[in-house]
Amino acid sequence: MVLVYSDDKKLTLELLNKAQELGKELHKKVIAVTIGHEEFAKEFLEHGADVVIVIETSLQQFKAEEYTSILQSIMKDHGNEVVLIGSNKNGKELAARLAAKLDAGCVMDCLKVSLHDKKLTTERIVYSGNAIAVEEFTTAPQIITIQPKVFDPLPRNEHHKGEIVKKKIEPEHSPSKIVKTQEMKSEGVNVEDAEIIVSCGRGFKKKEDIKLVSDLADVLKGRTVGCSRPIAADLKWLSEDHWIGLSGHKVKPKLYIACGISGQIQHIAGMRDSGVIVAINKDPEALIFKSADYGIVGDLYEVLPKLTSAIKEKIG
Ligand SMILES: Cc1cc2nc3c(=O)[nH]c(=O)nc-3n(C[C@H](O)[C@H](O)[C@H](O)COP(=O)(O)OP(=O)(O)OC[C@H]3O[C@@H](n4cnc5c(N)ncnc54)[C@H](O)[C@@H]3O)c2cc1C
Repeated sequence: MVLVYSDDKKLTLELLNKAQELGKELHKKVIAVTIGHEEFAKEFLEHGADVVIVIETSLQQFKAEEYTSILQSIMKDHGNEVVLIGSNKNGKELAARLAAKLDAGCVMDCLKVSLHDKKLTTERIVYSGNAIAVEEFTTAPQIITIQPKVFDPLPRNEHHKGEIVKKKIEPEHSPSKIVKTQEMKSEGVNVEDAEIIVSCGRGFKKKEDIKLVSDLADVLKGRTVGCSRPIAADLKWLSEDHWIGLSGHKVKPKLYIACGISGQIQHIAGMRDSGVIVAINKDPEALIFKSADYGIVGDLYEVLPKLTSAIKEKIG
């Protein structure tokens, strides 16, 4: 069996794509698990799950210890060999605990998962983005966490038949207690779902100049502004919601315009899957041009106003 779990519904749908492919190759069924969300079950079936296990429980909040024991109990009943978990904060904690409990192999933050001679092989970025580790599992179960946006969900198939199984599991209450949860400071920007992103980097001289980027974003339909790490983390000109890259958000827009961004691997890691990449940089040797479909060599202070008004004229 191939088991899929994330506390993020969208991420579960993405993982189901890969799970279905692995399931076909391994001749195994795909099981999706939802803890406390029966309303997701039908959608999971329509996106590739053969079985959806709905856990009925009185648990109110995610706690890795308790969720680990739920997944462990499912794996005991179904003998899952491959476990795909969404790579967010909760998912990573859960995967690590599950692997320790089962004495299983676990690879985090995979960007590629494939089968070679029936052996599961993964690829992930290591050494701050300077290398890719290729790893192969030698024993089962095999636990993998996959980041958001690595796979697209399969198109919805209302005819995909499957089974919804309800299970009551009340794990032993963990001795830890969540004392307080605090929402992160946010400007309500969602770069991960944006279709068009205009991003700024250290090529900008002062905070006010970022208006050049938001003006361009405004005339395009995306209206979303992204940035490199120094803009959010060091200069704090924009909130962390805008930060794109290895340690920021991973994005997959149809159009990504990088303005005054050098194109270091850690930035590229977050936007390399964009549809069309346009780079504006005054240095013709800038690394960003290697990843770009279109490059404009020039001073962004001259290029951006001209580009914005040309687009405005064209699309109104
Ligand atoms: C562990 C680790 C994780 C990291 N994670 C991330 C991450 O998630 N995201 C991220 O972005 N970075 C990340 N970094 C940092 C990364 O290595 C780079 O330092 C960063 O991306 C550089 O940002 P930048 O391109 O804006 O600035 P710079 O590298 O300083 O580049 C500025 C660019 O602007 C151009 N420029 C200057 N003036 C103009 C002008 N007037 N017109 C046009 N072009 C101009 C320059 O030619 C230059 O190419 C990480 C680093 C580490 C070690």
